[in-house]
Amino acid sequence: MTVSRSEGDSPGEPPGDPPGGPPGDSPGGEPPVRPAGGHTLREPCPRCSRVIEADERFVRWCPACEWNVDPRPQPPPASRFERRAAQAAADEGPRLLAEVSLEPEVRLPRDPARLRVWFLALAVHLVTAALVGAGVALAVAAWPGVIGVAVGVVLAFAGLALGPRPRRGDPGVAAIDLCDASALAALVGEVAAAVGTAAPERFEVDASFGSDLSTTAIRRRTTVRMGAPLWVCLDPQQRVAMLAHVLAHPVRGDSANRRFVASADESLRRWVDSLTDEAPARERRGVWGDGLNRAAIAGARRIAVAQLRRLRTTATTATQRAEYRADEIAARVAGREALTGALETLLLADRCTSAARRGAAGGQDPWAAARRAIADVPGHERERLRRLSRRRGQAWDDPHPPTAHRLAFARTRADLPAQVACPPERAVAVAAEVHPALATVAGELQARVGA
Ligand SMILES: [Zn+2]
Ligand SMILES: [Zn+2]
Repeated sequence: MTVSRSEGDSPGEPPGDPPGGPPGDSPGGEPPVRPAGGHTLREPCPRCSRVIEADERFVRWCPACEWNVDPRPQPPPASRFERRAAQAAADEGPRLLAEVSLEPEVRLPRDPARLRVWFLALAVHLVTAALVGAGVALAVAAWPGVIGVAVGVVLAFAGLALGPRPRRGDPGVAAIDLCDASALAALVGEVAAAVGTAAPERFEVDASFGSDLSTTAIRRRTTVRMGAPLWVCLDPQQRVAMLAHVLAHPVRGDSANRRFVASADESLRRWVDSLTDEAPARERRGVWGDGLNRAAIAGARRIAVAQLRRLRTTATTATQRAEYRADEIAARVAGREALTGALETLLLADRCTSAARRGAAGGQDPWAAARRAIADVPGHERERLRRLSRRRGQAWDDPHPPTAHRLAFARTRADLPAQVACPPERAVAVAAEVHPALATVAGELQARVGA
């Protein structure tokens, strides 16, 4: 079994670079002024008439009244439960940010909270297992009675349908054995020592925009995984910050069976969906059959919803506190400026990954394309993304607080000299060792998107 923590990033934005406000949305008033040779436009805001600076390659928006900050608002969650959960997350985020910002050192969630999450998840998995077990036992006991066998089979399949699914294998991962990469091993080891944790044994690169730490359950071998688009868009010191953040996860004691808890959450969500009136009738019939008493369904749903809410509330507060703590450690190890730089880059996740894919599809180096795409993002677009991150808040199943909150928190930490430095000559040696893995993942990405 592998447990892992992942560095999911920035609230999702649709891929591509939205070209401006909604169609037919003319600001009115004076025509836009276009300076010769530049991309900057100055035009009045259609809502508050203040002059806004815009760039034709990016979204036009108004910093004063926040017109068009979110040109493609996400549709509200379909189910009542998800809507309430989103609202609860939106309320909880700023409260937790205010709380941790005042703490000189972020307090970690107490052990009982983590243990409670684990037991809540275990209870869910046990119910699923009991359903499958009861189904099989019933079918065996009733054999060869047709009805008993049929009911047993239905029960067992319901359990299987609602239970955790095996994780799909990850395509496109290139591994670097740290025994064969001395510069990278030295850097990762130094960061781990500064964080106060054991050095990982493997370093992997994949095509995602994120970073991740996983541990095998038996040998406790740890692997750091870095998404290539993220790695190439960070400067060397920001890479130190990202490494420190990822390595700081186990330090907090939350070697958290994240996968264990996440799969319980997934199961419960499927329970709630299959029991809800809002799910398509086809799906409900698939699992439960038409004849089942509606009152029993409503009762079961209420139990599943309550359990899901309990699991999420306990898990979210505990993990988010620990994420702030990991950021605090990263700021100490790599320097506050490097951490804020890395967090700012997380805001550009969608721009970066879609540029990499486009580059790969066009037969170019996807990582060079990703770097180019974020190199010339103007300040007003970065500010829009910060506000978007704050506005969209965060999904309950994402372990990270909104990036805008993490940035605000990072600024409350002391700005001390970095404990681990990555000067240019060191950065060059590390880059040379990571390069073959980046090239492998680039080739796989090109093959996947059909270059
Ligand atoms: Zn994290
Ligand atoms: Zn305005």
